[in-house]
Amino acid sequence: MNFIASRASAIEKLDHFVENNLLDYSKKRNFDYGPEKRSNVSCLSPYITHGIISELEVINRSLKKFSFSKNEKFIQEVLWRTYWKGWLELRPDVWTDYLLELSKLRKEYLKNQNYKNAIDGKTNIECFNYWVSELKNNNYLHNHARMWFASIWIFTLELPWQLGAEFFMQHLFDGDAASNTLGWRWVAGIQTPGKHYLASEWNIKKFTNNRFENIKLNQNSSPKVSDKNYSIINKVFKNQVNLEEKNLIIFENNLSFEISDFQNNNFKKIYLVSNKNQNRSIKLNEKVQKFKSLLINDQKERLKSKSIDCEVIDISEINNISEEVVGLYPTIGENLDYLNSNNFKINYLYRKLDQYSWQYCNKGFFNFKNYIPKIITTFN
Ligand SMILES: Cc1cc2nc3c(=O)[nH]c(=O)nc-3n(C[C@H](O)[C@H](O)[C@H](O)COP(=O)(O)OP(=O)(O)OC[C@H]3O[C@@H](n4cnc5c(N)ncnc54)[C@H](O)[C@@H]3O)c2cc1C
Repeated sequence: MNFIASRASAIEKLDHFVENNLLDYSKKRNFDYGPEKRSNVSCLSPYITHGIISELEVINRSLKKFSFSKNEKFIQEVLWRTYWKGWLELRPDVWTDYLLELSKLRKEYLKNQNYKNAIDGKTNIECFNYWVSELKNNNYLHNHARMWFASIWIFTLELPWQLGAEFFMQHLFDGDAASNTLGWRWVAGIQTPGKHYLASEWNIKKFTNNRFENIKLNQNSSPKVSDKNYSIINKVFKNQVNLEEKNLIIFENNLSFEISDFQNNNFKKIYLVSNKNQNRSIKLNEKVQKFKSLLINDQKERLKSKSIDCEVIDISEINNISEEVVGLYPTIGENLDYLNSNNFKINYLYRKLDQYSWQYCNKGFFNFKNYIPKIITTFN
């Protein structure tokens, strides 16, 4: 597993996957053959999370190779991300409450041996320990492994999902507030109330190609229950019209200006914003911080090669920019939290895909799925 922090590598990975492995994706995608055999999935999430390549770019590349019907499963998976993002945008308190609960639980579990054993990969469940070390070494886990991991964490080790979600965020190269928090809530049974995901021995054995067996799991647990109900907020995702000669700020989720909806606008200067651990609630592992910083630099070099004036700044320095700024919307997560809590007033620019798709995120994914052909024809 090797994630080189550049757009060139992301494009190469995308091309290779579409040309060689996309055809079998729906048949093979659930198998976790191990970190050295990842060709059955795209491994693009670390890049898509950072906007190095966009969902539409990935989908359009796949549609150049195969028809929509041959590609449908892959396209649906790619748009899960867009859906989760929109779902959280419409219910921002889910994220705020998650961080509040997390901060309480951290103190409660500080000296808990069961928790320590879990994050050190020293439980009596071999496959779980393996995934802990895989996560720490490769900063990526297969989707099925994430589901098994979260399920074992919650229902067999009986640890709070919030701490597991934090552990993922600290180590994943693709760590994303929406996909991660909602993924963990889904496994726990509070995202779709009453429906949890229970990992089972036969399923792990089959989909790891018999790499693990004799796995003793609690397979009788009930779903977790939350007493919180989140109603949808009324939020308008509208862009400012006059952008000429303004300064643009770009956060870590949109690191390919040249493919953005705003690539043809004349910005005076582009500021690429990095965010240190001291300004994050969840402290990222060193490798994840480095990955982000390399991706930011890669974007800087690409902008410079096009003679676009740009500079990397720390998030705390945004207020020092004396002229008017607009910013590509960072979406719910640590960057937006910092800007809001420091009262930084920024006019945000939303991606067309988000503006259009998020209106369909008020219900479940099965409802959203019905709109996918419409979304595709609108943007293809
Ligand atoms: C508990 C849990 C936590 C997760 N945390 C994250 C996270 O922090 N960041 C993250 O990007 N994904 C997260 N996921 C979703 C998913 O596991 C990863 O996106 C996927 O494994 C990435 O690998 P890939 O690029 O090879 O995926 P592929 O199977 O090749 O899919 C292609 C793309 O579709 C999108 N995608 C696929 N499955 C999902 C999904 N279930 N939810 C959202 N998008 C999806 C991703 O952008 C992915 O790159 C989580 C899932 C679970 C169950």
